[in-house]
Amino acid sequence: MFKRMLIANRGEIAMRILRCCVELGIETVLIHSTEDAESMPVQLCTQAVCIGPAATKDSYLNVDAILTAAKAYACDAIHPGFGFLSENAEFAEKCEENGLVFVGPSAEIIRKMGDKQSARELMKKHGVPVVPGSDGLVEDAKEAAEIAKKTGYPVLIKASAGGGGRGMRTAFSEDEIEQAFESARAEAKAAFGDGSMYLEKLIVNPRHIEVQILGDRFGHIVQLGERDCSMQRRNQKLIEEAPAKCLTPKSRQAIAKAALKAAKAAGYYSVGTVEFVLDQDGHFYFIEMNTRIQVEHPVTEMVTGIDLIREQIRVAAGQKLSMKQDDIKIHGHAIECRINAENPEKGFAPSPGTVDFLHLPGGCGVRVESALYQGCQISPWYDSMAAKIIVHAPGRLEAIRRMRMALEETVIEGIDTNIDFLLLIMFNPDYMLGNINTSFIENHTQSLLDWNKASKNA
Ligand code: ADP
Repeated sequence: MFKRMLIANRGEIAMRILRCCVELGIETVLIHSTEDAESMPVQLCTQAVCIGPAATKDSYLNVDAILTAAKAYACDAIHPGFGFLSENAEFAEKCEENGLVFVGPSAEIIRKMGDKQSARELMKKHGVPVVPGSDGLVEDAKEAAEIAKKTGYPVLIKASAGGGGRGMRTAFSEDEIEQAFESARAEAKAAFGDGSMYLEKLIVNPRHIEVQILGDRFGHIVQLGERDCSMQRRNQKLIEEAPAKCLTPKSRQAIAKAALKAAKAAGYYSVGTVEFVLDQDGHFYFIEMNTRIQVEHPVTEMVTGIDLIREQIRVAAGQKLSMKQDDIKIHGHAIECRINAENPEKGFAPSPGTVDFLHLPGGCGVRVESALYQGCQISPWYDSMAAKIIVHAPGRLEAIRRMRMALEETVIEGIDTNIDFLLLIMFNPDYMLGNINTSFIENHTQSLLDWNKASKNA
C-alpha cells in the first residue's frame, strides 16, 4: 500500500479521500491555494502545502507546482478527486514519468474515453448503442445542417472535449443551427482550448442513467448497478439516486451489460462511470464515460456497502478487486442532494460568503459529505457545491422522508443555499412518483418557487 498520498483537490472530496487514506494507514499531503488556507482538509491532513493563489490555473491546475510538492514531500501517489486534473491525460502521464502513481486509469484510457467523439466511435464499433448523429467530427455549421437533415431536429451540438454541461447547444430547426454551432464551439474553445465538435440527435425529456464500473489491472471488471441522475439544472446534476426506479429487472440487466461492454472495450481499470440517456420508450444510448470518481458515488456506496475510494486506491496500488460480480448486491434505496451555495430565486446565482452558523443533520441512514464548519468561507473562486447529504433507507419513499427530515435539520446561515428548494422537490408529487427526466427542474422551478412563496404568506 502507499505510504503518502498527495491529494490534488479541495472541499468535500478532499475530505472524503483524506478520511479513506487515514483508514488505510496512508499519510496525506494536501495541496491548496491561498484562498483555502483555512479549509477543513488543510487542518486535518498530515501536511498541507500552499502552491499558489486562488485562480485555479495557478493552484489546483498548476501541474508543475503539484508535482514539485509531491516530490518534495516524498509522496508515492496522487489522488486527483473529480474536476480539476482528474481527467487530464497529460497530468496522469507526468505523474508516471515522475515516479508517482496516478490514482485513476492510465493516460491512454483517459485519452481514449475523454475525447467524447472518439469514445462514441469506439462504442459503435463494439455494439454499444449510441445516440444517432454524426460519424466523426463535424467541421462547420453547414455540415452540421446536412447531418441534422438526416437525423431530424432537434439536435445537440456537442464539444468533443466538453464537460460539466459546457460546449453544448440545442438547435430546434435549421434556422438555429449556425448560431448553436458557433456558440458551442466558441464556448468549447474558451473552456477546453479545443473546438472539435460533433452532433447528436436531442433525445427529448430523457432520463440520465449511469452505471458504476470498477476494475483492476488483472482484467477483473464489475458493475455496481445504476444511478438515476435526471434531476439536473443546466445539464448539471442536483439530486441523484440508486437504484433507478424506472428500470425493470430486464432493462436494468441490459443497461448494466452495455456498461460492462463499454468498459471492456476501453480496457478499463479503476473506478469509472458509463453514462446513458434513456428515452421515453425505454431505449438507452451511450453518451460518455467518466474516467474518475463521480460526485454522486456515495449513493452507490450506500446501496452496495462498497467503499469506492478505498477500492480505487487499492487498485492503483496494484491490488486485486476485493469482490466478484456475484458478491455485489443492491440493498434498499439511496438519494443524494447537493447543497449548493446559490440562490434558486435568482437563477441559481452563486452565493459566496462566510458560514455564520452551521447545523448538519444526523440519524440512522444519514450521511454528510462536506468540508463545512462554522465560520468557514465559501469562496467565489470555486464551484458552489458546499456539501452533499445522502440518505439510505429500505425503500424509495422512506428515503424521501428521511431526506426531508435531514434537509429540515440542516441550518446554514450567512450564505444563500438551495436547501429549501431541494425540500420543495422532496414534497413534489411527480418527484415522489418517480416521474422525472432531465427537464424536470427547468419545468418545475417556477411553480416550486411560487408555491413556496404562497405557503409562506398563507
Ligand atoms: P458533460 O460531459 O458536459 O456532462 P454529457 O454528454 O454527459 O456532457 O451530457 C450532460 C447532460 O446533457 C446529460 O446528463 C443529459 O441530461 C444531457 N444530454 C446529453 N446528450 C444528450 C442527448 N443526445 N439528448 C438529450 N440530452 C442529452
